[in-house]
Amino acid sequence: MKRKGILVVVSGFSGAGKGTLMEQLLKTYDNYSLSISMTTRAPRPKEQEGREYFFVTKESFEGEIKQDGLIEYATYCENYYGTPRKYVEEQLNMGKDVILEIEIQGALKIKEKFPTALLLFVMPPSAKELENRLTKRGTEPPEVIEKRLSRATEEAQGIEKYDFIVVNDDLESCTRQLHNLITAAHDAPIRN
Ligand code: 5GP
Repeated sequence: MKRKGILVVVSGFSGAGKGTLMEQLLKTYDNYSLSISMTTRAPRPKEQEGREYFFVTKESFEGEIKQDGLIEYATYCENYYGTPRKYVEEQLNMGKDVILEIEIQGALKIKEKFPTALLLFVMPPSAKELENRLTKRGTEPPEVIEKRLSRATEEAQGIEKYDFIVVNDDLESCTRQLHNLITAAHDAPIRN
């Protein structure tokens, strides 16, 4: 019998390098699908519709909520972010493990609804490195960086809710570590 996929939640501070890590994971192994979220935030200069996000208006996001089209959603720095239901369910049924790169409120909702979901938290090597990465990315003005760093401090309070914490100091070893944790979760599902 073909195994069913599991949900893998990946959270981490804005600037922890989750995006690059997920790209590497998908490039290196073929059993993963990345869920593309829906958001009301404006696209950053290099972002494309349907690649990083589905960019929608507040009205259409609220329409999706009403129609139960999202498996979870949350507000982050004044914008809505949510996970579309259809793609996730299709991929899981095909046996793919689905990666959700989402923040903590969404992560906790997923664990409630899908007890076998694996919750991973990616940490930058240091707080200074986090600030450097956010500043170097240059996609947000200083006041938004400030808000995101303070949100990072808040999110740190919930870190014990995650199954594993992974430090993103070296891309390749961190990718391997994620893959090993996901493989292990298939054999021995974690139910808190
Ligand atoms: P960003 O604006 O930097 O792309 O994302 C801001 C935060 O929203 C990040 O922590 C990201 O993981 C989270 N996020 C992205 N998509 C979703 C989603 O579908 N649901 C939830 N709950 N959070 C999301």
